[in-house]
Amino acid sequence: MPSDGHFLFLGNQDLNGILRGRSVPKARVAEAMAEGLPWVPANLTIGALNGLPPDTPFGPLGEIRFVPDPAARITLGAQDGGPAFDLALCDARQMDGAPWACCPRTALKSAISDLSRRTGLTLKVALEHEFTVLGLNQPNHVAFSLSAGRAIAPLAQRVIDVLDRAGIALEQFQAEYGASQFEISSVPTDPLTAADRTVLTLETIRDTARGMGLRASFLPKPALDEVGNGVHIHFSLWDGPRNVTADQDWLTPRSAPFVAGVLDHAESLLPLTILSANSYARVRPHSWVGAYTCVGLRNREAMIRLVPRAPASDGTHPKASLEYRVCDATANIYLALAAIIRAGLAGIAAGSAAPPNVQHDPDTLEPSQRAAWNIRPLPASLSEALTPSALADASAWLGPELASVYFGCRRHDARQAADHTFDELAAKLSLVY
Ligand code: GLU
Ligand code: MG
Repeated sequence: MPSDGHFLFLGNQDLNGILRGRSVPKARVAEAMAEGLPWVPANLTIGALNGLPPDTPFGPLGEIRFVPDPAARITLGAQDGGPAFDLALCDARQMDGAPWACCPRTALKSAISDLSRRTGLTLKVALEHEFTVLGLNQPNHVAFSLSAGRAIAPLAQRVIDVLDRAGIALEQFQAEYGASQFEISSVPTDPLTAADRTVLTLETIRDTARGMGLRASFLPKPALDEVGNGVHIHFSLWDGPRNVTADQDWLTPRSAPFVAGVLDHAESLLPLTILSANSYARVRPHSWVGAYTCVGLRNREAMIRLVPRAPASDGTHPKASLEYRVCDATANIYLALAAIIRAGLAGIAAGSAAPPNVQHDPDTLEPSQRAAWNIRPLPASLSEALTPSALADASAWLGPELASVYFGCRRHDARQAADHTFDELAAKLSLVY
């Protein structure tokens, strides 16, 4: 693909969910696309508030290589009198091109291939992202209203134009419930493409907003008294051309053990799907996030909602999906998807029984009923989530090296958060996420 931009930025989403990389001028684009660029291992661990975790194993030594994937490329338009930029997503590899143990994109590829090798199943993924847009000229944000939809339309149109040119379709771009809150949803595709498109789409929204004098922030909890910005991961399981996620409004024998595995490992998934100390303030009962480990048909207080969509005449659900609700945009989306696949695979390997279809707000159930259904509250803070068993699962799922570096990043986050009030931290992180 010829370069449209005057620069090409090669990047990889790091262990703090931040896209980092470096750019080359147009004359070097072909060479950089063919050969990649050198990169510094320690950069993968730079914190959201800057600074390296004290226990990062990566010091001043070492070198890896960013190797771009031509399929994961977009051109961000010229703005503010500045030139257009191309952006290409990369694998982080060893210098000789061999896989590098700490590359999140590589970890996802390996989870995808293990899922199909061990079960014959494939996954399709679509994502919903909620975000706040600051600086819009709207006197009042009326939830889901036409006026809020019109207020965001100029940004939405520019974003859609940029994405269209890169072959990325969106399903919806809509006003949401919260103050100046909006939402995009992507179309279902394979997990790697879904993750790449997520990174490209979020960067496009942030970049386009910046070019219009606005600010788009995906911070999970902008203020304690405001609704959160969630990321909902819709996934469906496929046996060849057949969606085997749901049948007759409930899980199938193929999907039930996968879902059971995700719920059984919920506490271990959490540090991989919500990263920052801020994230945990979003995961509260009665906020439609899913603060308890359960699954329910059309239940928005369950950690996993079964969304059957329109059934076919025989009762099958060709468009059904399961919605993992406890993710946010601080996540490294490659690791989040890899971990969900690994937890699902563990459920399949164990032959786990179908979980109950919870048709209540789990917070309103008697504790004895929750215990009978194995419904557990999720950890309420980042430090609570960083347990030895979560680290052990992450090591089994992602490899011990990546897991250990990743948990070092999270401990760094937790320590830094302890030095801030909620509002101070939110103000700083809203400029990052
Ligand atoms: N804002 C909620 C969240 O933080 C989700 C609301 C919805 O169901 O769209 O996940
Ligand atoms: Mg929403």
